[in-house]
Amino acid sequence: PNELLLYCRPGFETDLASELLEKAALSGISGAPRFERGGGHVRFEVTDGRPANDLHRALPLASLVFARQSLVAFPPLTLDRSDRLNAIIAQARDSGWSCEELWQETPDTNEAKALAGLIKSLKRPLEAQLRKAGVLRRKAGGRRLHLLWSEGDRVQLGMSFPGNRSEQLGGIRRLRSPSRAPSRSTLKLEEAWHEFVPAEQWSARLSDGMQAADLGAAPGGWTWQLVQRGMQVFAIDNGPMDRDLMATGLVEHLREDGFVWTPPARLDWLVCDIVDKPSRVITMVERWLTRRWCREAVFNLKLPMKRRWEAVSQGLSRLADSLERAGVRAEIACRHLYHDREEVTVHVRLLD
Ligand code: SAM
Repeated sequence: PNELLLYCRPGFETDLASELLEKAALSGISGAPRFERGGGHVRFEVTDGRPANDLHRALPLASLVFARQSLVAFPPLTLDRSDRLNAIIAQARDSGWSCEELWQETPDTNEAKALAGLIKSLKRPLEAQLRKAGVLRRKAGGRRLHLLWSEGDRVQLGMSFPGNRSEQLGGIRRLRSPSRAPSRSTLKLEEAWHEFVPAEQWSARLSDGMQAADLGAAPGGWTWQLVQRGMQVFAIDNGPMDRDLMATGLVEHLREDGFVWTPPARLDWLVCDIVDKPSRVITMVERWLTRRWCREAVFNLKLPMKRRWEAVSQGLSRLADSLERAGVRAEIACRHLYHDREEVTVHVRLLD
């Protein structure tokens, strides 16, 4: 195979394509992105004869902002509607690859969701025939074969590898909206923690008695998540906070400007969901981190502009540069989460 297949939120194909072009070039690999606007996925063909696996390893999913899933992929197939299986089985068998699982997915578009019935009806016969052809096996290095259905007769096969993929169907982490949380944006912070803090470290890094600041906190969806973990929270916002949340006694509400407020002591967490220019948010976060006012931070960068990748890329480079100049070692990660719309989520963790 000589291409990657990446899933994204519909409408963000241009951003993902720009990101891939820039990052592939930095790894010395040239390629060409292909996508349809609103299609929810981008193909990236490696054009210099290198195997697509090289690029797949050079750009781990966790290091990409706009990709929800990343596969090493085969050329898309147009199927005969009276015999869909044949071409799929033949391509899988001829590839020489084996896999342990088959996942059928669609792009995150309304049109593609209508394919759910078809996908369900194909599951058993596909698995039976893939097994017969020796493709689907009990042991195959944890590889998973993905079928991305964009239409009833259009499918693309791709392979994913343990450690460099999303373990969620469609690359989408669906979370149940907690009924007692003050706002739906609560899910953004919860998803961020799932994304950036390994499950086995939650009890150490998101624990009872820690102190946090939530800038732009009202009505309190993010503060609610911090309180759920038993943290004490400074909630900074001119707007009103949820009453039940205030009644926990864990929240101190301060009607101040989040861009100038300074904490009374060092805290564990800074979170910020203020709607403002990315450069302004980055400047504020730089001040917090270079002075070590917190150990970890999660903040969103709002992206109403056209060239979203450029805005993100500039912001992240600036942050990395200023931390380095200040001698502050840190891990920085940024992802366009499922619960993010015109925004991305950044996580920073100080290393010493
Ligand atoms: N994360 C919140 C939640 O889950 O409920 C929602 C935050 S809402 C998107 C943005 C908030 O930022 C608004 O409540 C607004 O009042 C606040 N805000 C805007 N500018 C601010 C500033 N300079 N300082 C503090 N808060 C600000």
